Amino acid sequence: MCRSYSAWAIDNVVLAEKPNRPFASRCRLVRSNSRGDSWVEGLVSSLTVPILPRHADTIAQVVRHEYTHVVVYELAPGCPAWINEGLASYEQYPPGTGKERIKAWLARGGKVIPFGEVPLSFMSSPDPSAIRGYYIQSHSMMEFLIDRYGLGKIRLLLRELNKKGDWTAAFRRAFSRSFEATEKDWLDSLN
Ligand SMILES: [Zn+2]
Repeated sequence: MCRSYSAWAIDNVVLAEKPNRPFASRCRLVRSNSRGDSWVEGLVSSLTVPILPRHADTIAQVVRHEYTHVVVYELAPGCPAWINEGLASYEQYPPGTGKERIKAWLARGGKVIPFGEVPLSFMSSPDPSAIRGYYIQSHSMMEFLIDRYGLGKIRLLLRELNKKGDWTAAFRRAFSRSFEATEKDWLDSLN
């Protein structure tokens, strides 16, 4: 789905960070021209400051993450945050790390929240720890789905999200399976 980001020239993409936000994932992608002006390429956040040197090592990761949002926005503008961030995290991190991250989160006392109770937008949640948990479990779930069913099903899910009904209905159409049963499979896979 997002593999085409490699076609982008990294050296003319600038990362812009939203001030006072702890997560690099609150960045958006902009392109800069030869005069150093920049303009919005993907709608991810609202304020722009130059990328900080400490992000240099992770620039490729963050570009993959944010570019996934651009792609998801194109395919399914109303995509729930957990699917969107789960896919972006899947593209951001090396293979297999979704499971590692959630196991570490659970070992530190983190809790899994049923996806039906996860807010459709993470921005509305006031609790940074809860938001961190949403990201981690979303990453793990999307990794589980892609490993088991393939990216083709994810493309189908994004298409179905544009149709009538909530995301659980879209999920059932795309996967021919209830989300509840799939969520249980995912939880079992973490043991
Ligand atoms: Zn994100």
